[in-house]
Amino acid sequence: MNIRSLLEDREEKILSPHACFSAKSRGRQNEVRTCQTRTAFQHDRDKILHSKSFRRLKHKTQVFFSPEGDHYRTRLTHTLEVSQIARTIARSLALNEDLTEAIALGHDLGHTPFGHAGEGVLNELMSESFHHVRQSLRVVDVLENSGQGLNLTWEVRDGILKHSKGGGPLLGDPAAMPATLEGHIVRRADIIAYVNHDLDDALRAGLIELRQIPREILAPLGQSHGRRIDNMVCDMIARSLEADGAEIVQSPPMEHAILALRDWLHAHVYRSRPVHDDFVKASRIMRDLFLYFMENEDELLRSGGRRLPGDTLEVSVGDFIAGMTDRYAVNLYHQLFLPQPWKLV
Ligand code: MG
Repeated sequence: MNIRSLLEDREEKILSPHACFSAKSRGRQNEVRTCQTRTAFQHDRDKILHSKSFRRLKHKTQVFFSPEGDHYRTRLTHTLEVSQIARTIARSLALNEDLTEAIALGHDLGHTPFGHAGEGVLNELMSESFHHVRQSLRVVDVLENSGQGLNLTWEVRDGILKHSKGGGPLLGDPAAMPATLEGHIVRRADIIAYVNHDLDDALRAGLIELRQIPREILAPLGQSHGRRIDNMVCDMIARSLEADGAEIVQSPPMEHAILALRDWLHAHVYRSRPVHDDFVKASRIMRDLFLYFMENEDELLRSGGRRLPGDTLEVSVGDFIAGMTDRYAVNLYHQLFLPQPWKLV
């Protein structure tokens, strides 16, 4: 019995005509035997979930570096929150939940240790610019699976490549927008997840108080964490249904409030003294590691880095450092640059 065919038939029956149907995927870079029990997008989601890069998200910074507190978000919990929000919206609009989930789980695989501090250093030091979005695609196309890549479908790769707003408006250059509505959902779910959890974490850290946020930003969003997420999600579902489910949209006041909250968090959390001080320290670790491995190729290989055919040393060093978790980078820095205590009696 071919369960995949049954699932593909079910998609035809229950999904919106605007959904991306797994049976109509543009396919993979290397054609392989199709799975008998999962659709192409289910299969992609599982490949991402079982990858080593996905597990490393657990120890990568979201905002607070290597948090000791058990309740702070990491890049992994951010990813799971994006996935949950995006799936709720996809299911409500009868879009392809499996494709949505695959894009969401893969979208941040290319993030460096120490969040945007790490990304900024690699971008500054590498002759070809570095951006986590392109690195996420490189992880799934090339680096994962011992350098063979995950061979994902075109639609999942497209969604991963086009998830970032780059600090700009939610709607950008049409060429930079995802080809599927499922990709559009993840793009918006990403910001819904991070403005809410970064606000929640900053409150927990005592960096800010809710009453500091201007009323015109907070009032349309709601007074509690759950209420704010719910309002943002319900607004997107309702407005998109009004547009016949043919596009993913939010009401202008809600979109404005979300972007205003993001800008407010930039000024009061991301650029706050404690977060900025850690940003500077993390940047130094990243810079020292990068320059060290550029001068010591043997050490790169001994420490777990790889040289893939055709790559310059700079790209190999960038891949190695970008793939590290916060704690791996800190431990390696200690090992390479600080005197080690003698342990033998
Ligand atoms: Mg993200």
